[in-house]
Amino acid sequence: MTTKILNGKIAFVTGASRGIGKGIAIALANAGAHVACIATRAGNANDVVTTIQAKGGKAMAFGCKVEEGGAVAATFAAVKEHLGPVDILVNNAGISKPQPLLEMTEENWNSHMDINAKSVFLCSQAAIRQMKDAGNGGCVINIGSIVGQNAIPQTLSYCTSKAAVEHMTRVLAVECAKYNVRVNCIAPGYIRTEMIEQLAADGKLAADAIEKRTPQRRMGSVEDIAAAVIFVAGPGAGFMTGETLNIDGGWTAYGYL
Ligand code: NDP
Repeated sequence: MTTKILNGKIAFVTGASRGIGKGIAIALANAGAHVACIATRAGNANDVVTTIQAKGGKAMAFGCKVEEGGAVAATFAAVKEHLGPVDILVNNAGISKPQPLLEMTEENWNSHMDINAKSVFLCSQAAIRQMKDAGNGGCVINIGSIVGQNAIPQTLSYCTSKAAVEHMTRVLAVECAKYNVRVNCIAPGYIRTEMIEQLAADGKLAADAIEKRTPQRRMGSVEDIAAAVIFVAGPGAGFMTGETLNIDGGWTAYGYL
């Protein structure tokens, strides 16, 4: 029997109820991890937990608004009690609500910075405290975006929050190497999820044009991102920290018409 590369590791995945986070949670469980599946309400993550358990994996659903420090602390305590101290944190929860600059509200700005960026500080701090106390090292993977490096009109709050996630990755990596904790960022290109379907339905994203501009001529799948997470979380990436991996079908590399 082959040993699964993340056998018995405790993984904490935010935004695990659907889309990219759901794909990551399932892939981590397939690799042998026990997965805490986080969504705004525990009930939203029941479906992914059932899917994992049906395949013989171990998972539990927890409700937590990742931008609320008290809720984050309580959820990490509950995960430690029920599953054990966290070895792998995936900061995936996020929102994208484009608004033109001249109409952008303070609420829009604050919600992106809180849910997409402040949550990375709060969850990383809570997770790395557990990793340091347990003494086994650990791994934090932040889900950024290629728009943290590439400017898209009408998305100032979203792009800025994702640029913050990428730089937080570097600062956390250099500060926490002494605890044997690696911190990396995966920056997806356009991935077909409810977030993208909703933006397209609202006329805020042109799916055809995006596919044409992408050298691989398609949007990514949640499995494309989940596969990168398994690599970064695994022993093959043991000397990798403070890095951002773009998984975008060549979108960022492309510089022609
Ligand atoms: P979805 O909108 O499909 O899913 C978002 C997830 O985040 C849900 O599980 C949702 O939980 C959770 N969530 C939202 N707000 C909060 C909150 N305040 N507290 C806790 N959980 C919350 O998004 P995607 O799967 O498309 O995106 C996942 C991540 O990937 C995001 O960070 C996004 O920015 C990033 N990304 C996505 C790209 C894409 O093309 N799809 C491209 C680049 C980056 P609930 O069910 O409870 O609402």
